[in-house]
Amino acid sequence: MLCTNSHNNPVDALSCRVCGVDTFQAPTLVQAAPLNSFAVASMVLGIVWLYWLGSVLAVIFSFIALSQIRRRAERGRGFAIAGLVLGLVGVLTLAVTVTLFAVVAHHVHSPG
Ligand SMILES: [Zn+2]
Repeated sequence: MLCTNSHNNPVDALSCRVCGVDTFQAPTLVQAAPLNSFAVASMVLGIVWLYWLGSVLAVIFSFIALSQIRRRAERGRGFAIAGLVLGLVGVLTLAVTVTLFAVVAHHVHSPG
């Protein structure tokens, strides 16, 4: 336990053995790792979809989030993965929809 002048003392000391002050520094709290905001944004965009704009952004943001989380040891890996999956599902749905429209349009305009 450190006094306000940074002298080391026993944990149960009421005043500093060295300088006599009775004020001690509060124990340093272990701060929880911050939640990565790109991970949250990624999942939200994956859910709101926004005509596939959200899906594309969700995929991009999840890659940014995962690299930031790995580098800074932040929380939110689950959010980023959820955003990535939702985004990929959205993008795949877009691909399938565009393909179907192309096929239908082709058949409508072809004679016979
Ligand atoms: Zn002291």
